[in-house]
Amino acid sequence: MPFFIEVVLPLALPKPFTYAITEAEYAFLHPGMRVAVPFGRNKIYTGLVIGLHENPPQLYEAKDIHQILDDAPIVTKTQLAHWQWIATYYMCSIGEVYKSAMPSGFLLESETIITSHKDFDGESANLSDEEYLIYEALQKQSALKVEEVAAILNKKTILPVINRLIAKNAIALQEEISEKYKPKTIRYIRLQPEFLQNDQLNGLMELLSRAQKQREAVMQYFQLQSAEKKPVTVKRLVEAGTTAAVIKSLIDKQIFEEYHLEEDRVQFEGSDNAGFGLSSKQLEALESIKTSFTNKDVTLLHGITSSGKTEIYIKLIEEYIATGKQVLYLLPEIALTTQLVVRLTAYFGNQVAVFHSKYSNNERIETWQQVLSSSEKAKVVIGARSALFLPFQDLGLIIIDEEHEQTFKQQDPAPRYHARDAAIVLANSHQAKVLLGSATPGIETYYNATHGKYGYVALTERFGNVTPPEIILIDLKDKYKRKRMTGHFSDEMIDAITETLAQDKQVILFQNRRGFSPWVECMTCGHVPQCPQCDVSLTYYKYKNQLRCHYCGYNIANPTNCHKCHSTDLNTKGFGTEQIELELKSIFPDKNSWRMDQDTTRGKHGYEKIIDAFKNREIDILVGTQMLAKGLHFDNVAMVGILNADNMLYQPDFRAFERAYQMMVQVAGRAGRKDVRGKVYIQTYNPLHNVIRQVTDNDYDGMYKEQVYERHNFKYPPFFRLVKITLRHKDYEKLKDGALWLYNVMSQNLGVTVLGPEEPGINRIRNEYIRTIMIKIPQGTALGGTKKSIEKIIASFDAVPQYRPIRVTANVDPY
Ligand code: ADP
Ligand code: ZN
Ligand code: ZN
Repeated sequence: MPFFIEVVLPLALPKPFTYAITEAEYAFLHPGMRVAVPFGRNKIYTGLVIGLHENPPQLYEAKDIHQILDDAPIVTKTQLAHWQWIATYYMCSIGEVYKSAMPSGFLLESETIITSHKDFDGESANLSDEEYLIYEALQKQSALKVEEVAAILNKKTILPVINRLIAKNAIALQEEISEKYKPKTIRYIRLQPEFLQNDQLNGLMELLSRAQKQREAVMQYFQLQSAEKKPVTVKRLVEAGTTAAVIKSLIDKQIFEEYHLEEDRVQFEGSDNAGFGLSSKQLEALESIKTSFTNKDVTLLHGITSSGKTEIYIKLIEEYIATGKQVLYLLPEIALTTQLVVRLTAYFGNQVAVFHSKYSNNERIETWQQVLSSSEKAKVVIGARSALFLPFQDLGLIIIDEEHEQTFKQQDPAPRYHARDAAIVLANSHQAKVLLGSATPGIETYYNATHGKYGYVALTERFGNVTPPEIILIDLKDKYKRKRMTGHFSDEMIDAITETLAQDKQVILFQNRRGFSPWVECMTCGHVPQCPQCDVSLTYYKYKNQLRCHYCGYNIANPTNCHKCHSTDLNTKGFGTEQIELELKSIFPDKNSWRMDQDTTRGKHGYEKIIDAFKNREIDILVGTQMLAKGLHFDNVAMVGILNADNMLYQPDFRAFERAYQMMVQVAGRAGRKDVRGKVYIQTYNPLHNVIRQVTDNDYDGMYKEQVYERHNFKYPPFFRLVKITLRHKDYEKLKDGALWLYNVMSQNLGVTVLGPEEPGINRIRNEYIRTIMIKIPQGTALGGTKKSIEKIIASFDAVPQYRPIRVTANVDPY
């Protein structure tokens, strides 16, 4: 009697594959265990068993498996069911879900490339003969494919050996970005040792006799040191009145020396933070959430910025883990985890685990195992959206902070899931509760909360009853007309910054474009340099003297004359963060301005470094893109400036106004803490625009009502479900034909609104042309049935020979 298993491969295949196993294997295997299986011509993949049976496949002869990789399931039944739901709802294959859900260390395949770990010493480590052979080969050759390892060992079953080498930290997988959790460090300052002898001190003071400020800084350093009897941090010195610039010049002169010490992560920065009680408003909100959970599985906590939502989450988490349950805490942005880990570990110590794609494979596999075994080490998991795929055993609560953030939606590749919505489904299968938190809830969420689907709890006061910031509009048209502009700064904005800095407070400036300026234009013929592979103009970077494409990274040296007419009269148009930073340097030459955007935070800890420096007040003015809008807290920021509100408003997207509102309110929320009322200055050509008014009046309801009305009229969520079909191909005509064919078949057969085929605003990326079709499915129509029909139509499209090469993807609930 033959035995078979159903195996999911980490590939975009419509179905699982059947493999043959022995009776002994049949007795040993369970769904959720991994097996190494051959697939295609001599390739090996790590597959996942999802079923066992005795029915041979009809269409092909089942191959044998290579080997079994686990002793027990590492994926739970609940996970499998959830992944299947994701695949069905988001119209992709379960193989694609499996591939993106598992840490890649779990998914070795024959093409995987391994490299040696540079710090690993194979001579003194305890390696088996086989392990040593691989280690030795990697000393001669920098990288090996898994299949080459098979040749070295002269056997097929090599994955266990590789897994052991990974576990011993001897090798790494090439695709991994192994970013270890880096403990937070604090910057300290001390006098260079040579000045510590007493007779040297007088010499030093003499040396600085003409540098008054530096001399004062050294005196200040001595005062702090003798008063506090502990190492002096840069932060303390700055608080005592020395500017960061003076400290820097003393370091440059080799009088001061800087050094870094690790901060114990389990300790809170300000000790007054640990173990405090909730305010009465927070307590009230906490009680309302608990009451709401008695009859609603999902509850929205609508709490304005700085209302103290995090503290409420913490108290709630405490109650859930006290009952032995696991808690998942989702954040929109990996960069935010550090701040949160510090806050949570203060309460929960080592029960907090972190999981996201920037962690090394080892760390991710470790967390996976801890969650799977319900270990005390991972009772609370903090992570970005992929943490949703962990093997939870007994999940009690999911918190989704900043639930409105679009980064919760994965764009590419499949599965194009929304972590908030997928989390709600996951919670349901664990009978767990979901708390959504936001100061500016998404329209759909607020709709659900006001129509009885979700519970709703509001928190309308800032913690400590701090007054929300005052919002001041600056009319750009008027300022330009009256010549009150310096670069992109109005006189009012400059005055406000000057005043804020004079009070020793810090400033945040928001500009949602990177680079120096979005394009370069020839003043003679009007030519604008374009990316040769994408339908976009190139962005000018002054510092690098380059033009770059933001879509594909293509770049060229900045041309000195027009490529079309050879005129040298070229001009830069529009402005981005780089230009703002430069303007600031000339308007405020003795202040320290810094820029935070994708370009400056690329390095390993680029983001954290800037945040830390800003927190330590080494930066006076921070210019940044939307990165700044995401739940960061800075105690000393008294003013926020938005340089141009208009480019957020005019985007060709039905969510543009909602987003502009969220972005402005979130950025504004960074201003003002305990002692001073924050001020927010918004420069705009449209001071009368409804969204701008709603921001100024803090009128979420007004924004919501207007947007819901529009959504209803124009058939958008929450009244209609959208499925966006994207077609891509390098041949423009073929694509146009294919898109029209697909559109026609869909609109004739689906029985719902089908729009398109449209050429998007940017119609070519990386040399591929793009067309989109939008399907609008009214609430109440059988969604599953429509999706099945869509899939069938796409399958028949793929069966037309001339259309086969056109890539078609479906995006359900596009953002
Ligand atoms: P948000 O609602 O924007 O997430 P947070 O939870 O970060 O707000 O709280 C805002 C600030 O208020 C933080 O600096 C936090 O430490 C402080 N805070 C909140 N609740 C309390 C409390 N109960 N006692 C003392 N400080 C608190
Ligand atoms: Zn020209
Ligand atoms: Zn490009």
